[in-house]
Amino acid sequence: MQQCPSCQYELTMKEQVEAAESCPSCGVIYADFLREREEAMERRRRRLEEQGLEQLKRASPSHVVVTDIDMPFWSLVQFLVKLALAFVPAGLILMVIFWGFTSFIRLM
Ligand SMILES: [Zn+2]
Repeated sequence: MQQCPSCQYELTMKEQVEAAESCPSCGVIYADFLREREEAMERRRRRLEEQGLEQLKRASPSHVVVTDIDMPFWSLVQFLVKLALAFVPAGLILMVIFWGFTSFIRLM
């Protein structure tokens, strides 16, 4: 049994055959109604998503989940240069730790 998505009117067999595209009771065009409902749900979903993101930002500003990186090329280059430069002091720190650890092992 076909039912109108707008007014819930149940179409008779005859009406289903005759007017398959619009409701004989309220006159709504099914395709338009369904598309509009879909768009409204999409807008609602986006708004809830944005609200959710806002709440997430306020609740835990330090907690970030990276799912994808879409960065302009030169920003990425800048980031990688900084990363490479940061590797120098990081490497020195690791060398000192490693040196301390091996010296300690040799003393035993
Ligand atoms: Zn209807």
